[in-house]
Amino acid sequence: MPRRGTRRLSPRENDHGRTCLGCRRRRPRGELIRIVRDPGGAACFDLEGSLPGRGAWVCPSRECLAAVTPGALGHVLRAPVRLPPGDARRRELAGALGRRVANLVTIARRMRGVAAGPTGVRAALASGRARLLLLAGDAPADAAAPWTSRAGGIALRRAHDAAALGALLGRGPVTIAAVTVDGLAGALRDAIDRWRAFEAVSCDNDNLPMTIQGARGGTGAAGEEAEAR
Ligand SMILES: [Zn+2]
Repeated sequence: MPRRGTRRLSPRENDHGRTCLGCRRRRPRGELIRIVRDPGGAACFDLEGSLPGRGAWVCPSRECLAAVTPGALGHVLRAPVRLPPGDARRRELAGALGRRVANLVTIARRMRGVAAGPTGVRAALASGRARLLLLAGDAPADAAAPWTSRAGGIALRRAHDAAALGALLGRGPVTIAAVTVDGLAGALRDAIDRWRAFEAVSCDNDNLPMTIQGARGGTGAAGEEAEAR
């Protein structure tokens, strides 16, 4: 069930490209971040693609995000918009990108589409159900190799650290997990790549723990709240 397929489009929207407010280049909508104006007049990153109203678009890069001016954004959204400056703006989008990843993991869990732990992952690989492997961001650098060698081309991505990944999956620390839902695995992989690219860390060979605002050491409630918005 591809999550992106559930995106509600306003009548004006279609699948043609959108123009990034930062670099002014036209790109496919799926490669851009949607910005809307919330009822209080603040800019809001709409990564679920579900918020109503007019949308503006920006590349998921720090440079393009920094280049957006409140004036240009307000012009596109046809109302004055508050947009945080520099670092705060970057942190806000990084947080939204991380929550998007957390939401997709939570959705996969609810669909019973995640096998967690080495035994479950080995079984998912053996049965051919595994579509994406998630390795804890704080797992040792050499932890990925044994899994990629047996994954037979199935993508592996480092996600959150083991505590946060476990919290999202409703259990204790999880070092390795397999997502078994076809479309969702692709959406999750893309969301992780986008998040990590924005954070300027490589996707599968580094050893930098990734954390999610509100997810570390929590119960996964942050992801669920974000999803329910
Ligand atoms: Zn751009």
